[in-house]
Order: sequence, then structure tokens, then C-alpha cells
Amino acid sequence: MTAVAEIMDYAEVVERYDPVLGLEVHVELNTNTKMFCGCPNEFGGEPNTHVCPTCLGLPGALPVVNGTAVESAVRIGLALNCEIAEWCRFARKNYFYPDMPKNFQTSQYDEPIAFDGHLDVVLDDGEVVRVGIERAHMEEDTGKSLHVGGATGRIHGAEHSLLDYNRAGVPLIEIVTKPVTGMGERAPEVARAYVTALRDLLRAMDVSDVRMDQGSLRCDANVSLTPKGSAEFGTRTETKNVNSLRSVERAVRHEMGRQAAVLAAGGTITQETRHFQEADGTTAAGRTKETAEDYRYFPEPDLVPIAPSREWVEQLRTTLPELPWERRRRIQQEWQLTDEELRDLVNTGAIELVAATVEAGADPGEARIWWVQNLTQQANSRQVELADLPITPVQVARVIELVSAGELTNKLARQVVQGVLDGEGDPDEVVDKHGLKVVSDDSALLAAVDEALAAQPDVAEKIRGGKVQAAGAVVGAVMKATQGQADAKRVRELILERVGA
Ligand SMILES: [Zn+2]
Repeated sequence: MTAVAEIMDYAEVVERYDPVLGLEVHVELNTNTKMFCGCPNEFGGEPNTHVCPTCLGLPGALPVVNGTAVESAVRIGLALNCEIAEWCRFARKNYFYPDMPKNFQTSQYDEPIAFDGHLDVVLDDGEVVRVGIERAHMEEDTGKSLHVGGATGRIHGAEHSLLDYNRAGVPLIEIVTKPVTGMGERAPEVARAYVTALRDLLRAMDVSDVRMDQGSLRCDANVSLTPKGSAEFGTRTETKNVNSLRSVERAVRHEMGRQAAVLAAGGTITQETRHFQEADGTTAAGRTKETAEDYRYFPEPDLVPIAPSREWVEQLRTTLPELPWERRRRIQQEWQLTDEELRDLVNTGAIELVAATVEAGADPGEARIWWVQNLTQQANSRQVELADLPITPVQVARVIELVSAGELTNKLARQVVQGVLDGEGDPDEVVDKHGLKVVSDDSALLAAVDEALAAQPDVAEKIRGGKVQAAGAVVGAVMKATQGQADAKRVRELILERVGA
């Protein structure tokens, strides 16, 4: 099984097969404490410092359900248009793995807290696709293994492994879609758009920090292919823990091409987990997938069932924030955006950043230009999400303020933003550090104007003779002499005054 994986050309894949997707997203909740104990729920920390007998699974330790986590689960279910169970239980999912100290994961099985909903997803061209939600259930996260001594960081080839249980017992919600069918060639895009929409929704609800790079939002993508005209789903593979939105799309697309090549050659698809490899965009085989029976699920005897009263559920419904798509419609009206402008904002991931910049006092038009143009380019060249650029909406708003107050030119403003991105501090600190203020002192400007006019006497003569547009050359010379730190409009005024035009 060392053969290099063949990939079928994408156009041929979608001509011969219909892709079926199933997306499983795990979200770490941002509760103060873990799911079944009082340990802090914080990312990072010295290994094994956020642990106690319960989350270490020591004999005799008993779990207690985190009420806030249940509340978040119900709210997420409601936001996904799900039914909320009147009565449900936790279940033990048994498996032996070093990062699972109890040798079972407390999860939910056939009695999820939320089920049968949907999420409307907007594609890049504005088309809306409704993705069915099978269930959203509560569970706990595992610890983390660190494999030491190998070349790849994987367990294969490692000399030894270290375990950190800080993450063990962190509250998770697993959100599972119904099979997503009929998407054809757009299936990879639908997968990305779905995870994007879910991330935006959860962020707006403030139930998780939804950081894919830190693992607080993780997507497993199930992909199978059905030959055109067949009604039966093919065997699926599950690509695990794809850790960026872009990777979700790449992983699905790659897996479609790989499976098609296997099927077309007369092979069969093995039901297995696969790992997405960021470097080359391919997937590699992991373990052969267990079936539900292998986990020996049974109801958790140490926890009471959960029976959310209808009054409480309805009360929680009133706490749902303005949902992202409703908010977008409102913003479009308030900022008077065309459909295309709104789409650019959404597709670049800029909408909430622009909104926060406007909230910090900036003009919507200016804020939009900064985020959609300059900063999007910066994010692309650094290969990070726009929101992960090391600049805040408040800082962008300050730069815009400095420009509109005439203290920075647009060119200087770009330098200030660059400084902020390079970690030189707030805009005002960058301005001070590099002396980037506009030269607004007329006497300093006049000296430069006089020098430029003296250097170009013929131009000065033209201006005097009424050819005011000739002043451009002198403005250029002054801007160069002041290293772009002059206000061009003021320079022009001074030139005209000086030659008496
Ligand atoms: Zn604990």
C-alpha cells in the first residue's frame, strides 16, 4: 500500500460522480470551568496544571454537569433551528487511548440535546444553500498527546509520548449535518461556506472563541462518492481535524479526486479516518474507522438526565443575538452597500471587523476600504485570516481618525499600519517612533516650496501665467523633499500663494 495516490481530474470527477458530504464540527465552549468539574477551561497553561481527580478519571471521583455548558448547548440548538430534547442523557463512549484518562468519553449517543435543524449558508456568488443539521450534542474534550523524537510529530517513529490533560474535560458541542447532497462541483465550496457560517454564528453568540488555529473549532469532513445515476451512497472516509476554512475546501476537493481515481480503477474505498496534510493539500490514511458498536455506548450512570423545561428553552430563545445573516441585511441598508460590496465584505471575512471599526468611530466607507483592500492584501501575503492580523479595529479607527484630521496622508497612514502589523505598537506610538506626522508647519513647508519653485523657474512662470495645473510638478517635488509627510492640498495652496497666481 505504498503506491502514490492517483487523483482524477476535477472536471471528470464531477461528471462521473455525485459527492455526498457529512460535516462534523466540534466546538469548545468558552465556559469558565470544564464540563464536569471545577477546573479552569483555559487554552494553554503549564501541562497538567488544570486537572483534578474528576477530569483525570481517578477512582471514586464523580462528575457534575456544568449548567452554563447546557445553556450554551440549548442556545446553539435553537440558533440552528433544532428541536430541543425534553429529556436526554449522557452516554459513555468507551475507548482506550492515552489522552482519555477515564478510558471513556462522556458524550451523548441516541439522546442528543438538540436535533433536526438547519443552517442557511451563503455561497461566494450569493446563492443560499440550506444545510440540514442532524444533531448537536454535548460531550467533553480529550487531553493532548505530544509524540517526541520522530520526524513528523506523529506517533509512528516517536521515541516516547507525553500527555497533557489540561484539555481533558473541556466542554464540547459536536454539530453533525445531515448528508449534504446535490451540490456537484460546488461541494467543496459548500463545505467551506458551512463551516464559515457556523463559525460566524457561534462567534456572534459568544459561546466559543471559535479559533480553528487553536483547535476550539475543529471540522471533520466525511466524503463519499455516488456514481451518477445510482441512488446508493458510496463508502465514506472521514478527514479529521482540518484546521482552517481554506483547508476544509481543499480537503473535500482532494478526497473527491482521490476516491474517484480509486473507484474508476475498479478499487473500493476503505472506511477510515484520514489526516489532512496542510503542506501539499492531500489526505493520508489514518486508522480504520470504528463502528458505533465498537464503542459500547451505554447511559452514563453517574449523571442525572437533563430535562430542559419548555419555559427555560423559550427564555433562552430570547437571548439569541441578532443572527449574522440578519445583521448583514441591516448593515447593508445602513451603509448603503450594493449586493456586490456586501459580498466582498463577507467573502474577505471583513464584515465584523469593519463593524467594530465603525463602532470605534470610523466612517463606514473608510473602514471598508482599509479592511477589504489594504489589510486583506496583508492577510493574503501573510497567509492568515483577516481577523488574525495583529491589528485591531480600534487601531484602524485611530489611523482613519489621524487621516481625516489631516495629521497623516494616506501614504503615511499605510506606513503606520505597517508598523502596527510589525509589532511596533499602537498607531500613535508608530507615528512618534518614526516621526510620521504630516508637516503642517507652514514655515517648514514654505522653505520646501521656495526651494522647489527656485529649481523649476519655468514651471513657476507657467503657473504665474495662469497654467495652474502646472503646479502638480512643484507639489511632487515638495512631497519628495518632505518624504511624503506634507499635506498635498496645503502644499498646492502655498505654491499658488507664493507665485501670486
Ligand atoms: Zn478537573
